[in-house]
Amino acid sequence: MLAVDLVQLGRTGSVIVEGEWSSDDELWQDLSFSWVGQLVARLRATYAGTGEVVVRGHSSGRLRQDCRRCLESVETSFKKELTMVFVSDPSGDENDGGVHPLVPEGQTLELSKAVREEVILAVNPYVICDADCQGLCPQCGTNLNEDSCTCIEEANDPRWGPLQDLKSE
Ligand SMILES: [Zn+2]
Ligand SMILES: [Zn+2]
Repeated sequence: MLAVDLVQLGRTGSVIVEGEWSSDDELWQDLSFSWVGQLVARLRATYAGTGEVVVRGHSSGRLRQDCRRCLESVETSFKKELTMVFVSDPSGDENDGGVHPLVPEGQTLELSKAVREEVILAVNPYVICDADCQGLCPQCGTNLNEDSCTCIEEANDPRWGPLQDLKSE
C-alpha cells in the first residue's frame, strides 16, 4: 500500500511518499518475474492546475527472471523513473502509459496499482543469462551451457541426407 494524503496534498501542494513492496506482496502475483528483496519507490505527488495529481519519482529493485533461452534464473538490477498522472476522467486516455484514473478512497489516493502497471511496462521480458547462452536442445531439453547431447549430430546423420535434400528443394 502506498497512499497519498489528499488533504495534506491540498494544503501543501506537494507530498513525498515512499513505498516498499516485498517480493511476496500480492501486487506481484502471476507475473513472469519476481523481486529479490524489495521494490522501493520514492515519489513526489503534486497537484497540477486542473485538478490532476502528478506523481513522479524513482523506483528500484532487483529482478529475478528466467533466461528466455535456457530458463535458468537471471538477476538484474531494475531502476526506473516513474511519471504517473491521475485524472478524474481518463476517457480515451486509458491506454496511454502513465495515465491513471483518479479514484480517491476517502481522503487518500492509492498508488500501488499504478506503480505496478508502470513497473510491469518497464520490465524487459526477454532477458538472457549471457549473450553466448546456448539455450536448451529443442529435442531433448539438455541445457547446452552445461552439457552436450547428440541430437544435432543425429540430425546430420548421412542417413537423413535424402530427407534434408527434399526439404531444401
Ligand atoms: Zn541462458
Ligand atoms: Zn538434445
